[in-house]
This record gives sequence, C-alpha cells and structure tokens, in this order.
Amino acid sequence: MPQIQGIIVAPGLGLGPVHVVRARLDSAPVWSLRADETDAEIARLDVAIDQVIEVLGRRQKDVAKVVGERDAGILGVHQMILRDPGARATVDQTIREERLNAEAAVDRLVCTLEETMGRLEGDSIRGYAADVTEPWRAVVKALMQTDQETFAQTEEKVVIAAAELTPEAVTFLSRDRIIAIVTEAGGRFSHGAVLARSIGIPCVVGVPNLLARLEQNMQVIVDGDTGAIVLEPTEEMVAAFMERMDQRASRTRALSAHVAEPAVTPDGVKLDVLVNLESVRDLDTFDVTHCDGAGLLRTEFLYMERSVFPSEEEQFRLYRRVVDAMKGRPVTIRTLDIGGDKQLPYFKTPKEANPALGWRGTRVTLEWQDLLRVQLRALMRASAHGPVRLLVPMISSLEEVHSVCAIFDETKLQLTGQGYEVAADIPFGIMIEVPSTLWILDDLLEVVDFISVGTNDLVQYLLAVDRDNVFVSDLYEPFHPAVIRALAEIGRAAERAGKSVCVCGEMAGDEAVATMLAGMGYDSLSVAPSFLPALKFAIRAIPRSEGAELVKKLLTLSSAKDVKAHLDAIRGRLGAAILDSESM
Ligand code: PEP
Ligand code: MG
Repeated sequence: MPQIQGIIVAPGLGLGPVHVVRARLDSAPVWSLRADETDAEIARLDVAIDQVIEVLGRRQKDVAKVVGERDAGILGVHQMILRDPGARATVDQTIREERLNAEAAVDRLVCTLEETMGRLEGDSIRGYAADVTEPWRAVVKALMQTDQETFAQTEEKVVIAAAELTPEAVTFLSRDRIIAIVTEAGGRFSHGAVLARSIGIPCVVGVPNLLARLEQNMQVIVDGDTGAIVLEPTEEMVAAFMERMDQRASRTRALSAHVAEPAVTPDGVKLDVLVNLESVRDLDTFDVTHCDGAGLLRTEFLYMERSVFPSEEEQFRLYRRVVDAMKGRPVTIRTLDIGGDKQLPYFKTPKEANPALGWRGTRVTLEWQDLLRVQLRALMRASAHGPVRLLVPMISSLEEVHSVCAIFDETKLQLTGQGYEVAADIPFGIMIEVPSTLWILDDLLEVVDFISVGTNDLVQYLLAVDRDNVFVSDLYEPFHPAVIRALAEIGRAAERAGKSVCVCGEMAGDEAVATMLAGMGYDSLSVAPSFLPALKFAIRAIPRSEGAELVKKLLTLSSAKDVKAHLDAIRGRLGAAILDSESM
C-alpha cells in the first residue's frame, strides 16, 4: 500500500475506486493494467477498431454515391490502415508488455507515426502523415466514448484521476459522483483547483507519474487535509481512515451549528461573508441564508461550458437566476476573465509564450468590446430584479478603468433609451490582482465604488511564480512578507478612501487569514460555499482588535516561515475553540 505525498488543493477525506479520465479535450487518458486485464483490454481495442471500420465503410458508400468511387477511396485506405498487422502488433505489444490501457497505447502509435513522417521532407508526405494517423485517432475517440458512455450509465462514486487538474477533468462527472480528485500536474491555485474547491470535494495534485501507478477501479484513500494518497490501503488503514472521517463529520457539525448567524467578531465588528460562484449549479450546494451575498460570480465558467458565445438573452437569464436565488443579497458579477489557462473552445486565441502575462481578462474585452457590451447589457437588465455589482478583472491602469466606465455609461444610456429597467445604483468595482495597482490605489479608489483582491493572481504576479506551473509550486507562497505587506496596504488605502474592500482569492478561505484580514480593515471575504461554516466560526471567535495586533506583528516579519508560525498559533486557538463547542 504505497503512500504518496501531493499538494493539497481542497480539504476533506475520500475513499473509493479510482476512475482515470482525460485531462484535456485533445488528450488520451493513461492508466496501468494488471497482468490479468491485458486480454480484456485487447478485446476492448478490437471492438473499437471494428466500430471505426464499420463507420468508415458506411461513409465510404455514402461518399461514393455523391462524389464517386474514386474520391471515396481514401476512406477505404483508412480501413486498410486499421487492418495493418504491423501497426496492430505494435499497439498490442504496448498493451501486453507495458500494461498500458488501449487509449494510451494507440496514442503512442499516433505520436510515433507523426514523428517519423514529420522528419521526412515534402508537404505531400507530411499530408500523408495526417491520413495515416486519422483513423487511429478515431479509434482513441471510440475507446474513450464507449468507456465514458458505459461509465456514465453506472451510479458508481469514484475518485477521479487525471494527468492535469483542468476544468474538463473536474467537471467530467456530476459532483455527487466524485469522492475526490487526484492529478499529476496542476498548481494549487489553477482554475481547475478553484473549481474543485468550489465543488467542495477533497483534491490533491502534483504527483508525478501517478497514473502509471494506478489501475482503473483500484481502491485509494485521498487525504485532502494532509495531501497524502494511499494506493490499495490495508483493512486496518481503511478502519483508521473511517474513524477520522467520523471525527471530521463531527467537527463539521460543530462548525455548522451557528452558520446561519451573522459573522460578527466578539468586539462587535460585522464582516460580510460572501460566496464565490462558478456556475448556476453551485446555487444548489449551500443555503443562501448562510451568506451575505455573492462576492464573485466567475462568468467565464458559464462561457466555458458552452459551444458558442451565450447571447445577451441567455446571459440575462443566467444572471437573473443567480439574482433571484440570492433573495435580495448583492450579486457581484465579474466580466469575462478568459485567457491564460481559461480558454473557450470556440474562441481561439493566439498561442502565447507567456499567457499569464498576455492577452487576458479586460485586455481581451476592451479589444473585443462587443463581448463586454453584451455582458454589461445582460447584467444591467438583471439589476432590475435584485442588487447587482459589477467587478472588472485584470486591471493594471487607471486608463483601463476609465475605458470600461465609459462603455458602462454608454450601455446604461442605451438600455434605458430602449425602455429597459436598470437599477439606479450598480456599484462598480475592480479586482486588485496586478501589482501595478498597488502604487495607484488612491487614484483607483477615487473612481471605483469597491475593490476586491484576487490573491490567486496577486501572489502569482508579485512573486513572478506561475500559479499553474507545478515546477515552481514551492515558490508560490501566499505568506511571503511582500504579500502580507501588500494586503495591509490595500486595507489601509480602502480605509482612507472609505470604500469597501474584499478578498475573493483562495486565501480568504483560510480561517487564520480571516483574523488577519479583519485586523487589516477588510470588511468582506468571499469564499467557496463549503468554506462558510469554518470562516464564520473563526470571525465569531477572535476579536478584531486581536487581528489588528496580529497584523502589527506580521508587518515586522521578513520570512514566510515566521508569518506561518504566527498564523498557526491562531489556527491552534481556533482548533481548541471548535473542540470546546463540540463538547457543548
Ligand atoms: C484571483 O485571482 O484571486 C481571483 C479571485 O480570480 P481568478 O482565480 O478567477 O483568477
Ligand atoms: Mg484573478
């Protein structure tokens, strides 16, 4: 029962059979086979090849009828390629000797063929490479499709395993069937990670070569609290783990006992505790009376789940659903933040060497202004049905804010001119996540109604550490003194300007950080719904004045290690307070 250590993405405990999925639309899943599974795997490959040959045969006949036998000939060649004994022997050998699943074995053949042909001179030969590999790619697709269809028909709950923690891997199954998620790559703050946390399921990433050690249906333990993954645990380990699960459930009950009460510190300071939403489906995962509103609706995920851009009407209906569900609580709608690792399948952006520093968020929507205008129209129309706030991502200059404001005013005028009802007051906010904004905070705060700190990006850009890159994940340090000082300065600037300041990055979900942020003058925190109970408990347990004392101390420290030691002491106090409340 090997135990592997990974990076914690989302807390919680999970135990169950593994199901390996593909990480990206253009990749094949990889897993290992037991010796006694190779015959069945080869039989699965036979079925997939037969299926593709049959489809090709049918298409050949249809094409022949329309354009003639000659042009349909290529489809006959494709069938012959799949019957080629040499290629087939290579694939079978990979399955038997390397004990790899059929998708991975065929994918290996495709790569070899491409590489060999790519080395040859001449466009026609390279074109031939595409012809040779195409039918094999169809086999990979058929294998995955039948596998997925068969699996979708079951009701089995599984631990999802994938090469990368992409949004595709996280949303592959309905959330009630996912026990936990484990992946080889993916940073703690990637967008796949944000999704996993929002779903509230345990998740551990950053385990190189994990898939080669997994077999489909192998039992695993995923400990999202410590980052440990145990393959094929012994009976004793399972029993001990189940006991921990019980203890965790009792802790959750204790934390949840007062979740409906407002988040007021013992010295009487009320903080707004808001939720981050990625999809309208998130609305079913929590009770809205437990929060003060939505602090961040990441609209890009609504766009990512579709095959074409949503129209104004569709967006209006989605926003309205959220506004209605929040029952009078404010909903902060963030304009599209695509680019970087958030790509839309139907909006191909150029390949960039440094996507995080490239064409992203407001940089895209200020160029493709139609996207922004449609989105603003939809959210303004939704504002007639309940309080809506506008939040603009990836702002790096005052000019960008002025440009968006101008489009905002024009859109509002246009809508009211067309007879639509629009709320008189739609607070205008920006994300503070690009370091340049730290030195122009006073200017920005003169123009906007509120600010929201995106610590996921702020840490990435302040420390020059890609949030998605597993090779530098050790350097991604939210407790770096530079981050702490930046957060304190943002709090002070907002206080000077008398404007509301929130943190909606993942740091806000850490209970000890909540004490710190309250001490820095933040008036709201926005977190994935599953973090509400622990966060509200922490705010209600420690006076804000103590938070302010803590901040004074933290600002004198020059290492992340020392910052963490002080925050750990707060965590210890909170842990003791939870135990006390459990025994009450
Ligand atoms: C952030 O950067 O902290 C944030 C909230 O936005 P996202 O994670 O969507 O980039
Ligand atoms: Mg961000």
